[in-house]
Amino acid sequence: MSGRRTESVADEAYYDRNQAAQAMGVMALQLGFSVGIKDDPEWPILYIDLPQGQVSWHIPKKELKFDFPPYSKDWDKTGTNTKRVRMQEYIRDSIPQQKKCWCGETAQYNSEYGTYYCGGSIHKAYDR
Ligand SMILES: [Zn+2]
Repeated sequence: MSGRRTESVADEAYYDRNQAAQAMGVMALQLGFSVGIKDDPEWPILYIDLPQGQVSWHIPKKELKFDFPPYSKDWDKTGTNTKRVRMQEYIRDSIPQQKKCWCGETAQYNSEYGTYYCGGSIHKAYDR
């Protein structure tokens, strides 16, 4: 296996996703969030109650690395898009960020650029 690969095959991506979800679950437990497993013989579901709402992932039983407690609530019937929005909001808003543009000016979140941007004319030469 090369050390300079930039792409992973689907199995590797799923393995990484399953590990990342569990790492997030362990961190969420440490933060005092409600986290748990709803059992399924082959595909247990890991649930995390973020402040933004419930998120969940099916994890193959053989890839479960941590003995999460049982999750007692029901699935809130939200789909993947809602989960993505909740994750985005959690990532972006949970810890107050220093809202500065790279130039040092106070910045607003710019959804077109996906980052904080002051809108200043100094950037004209670097804008796409
Ligand atoms: Zn700027």
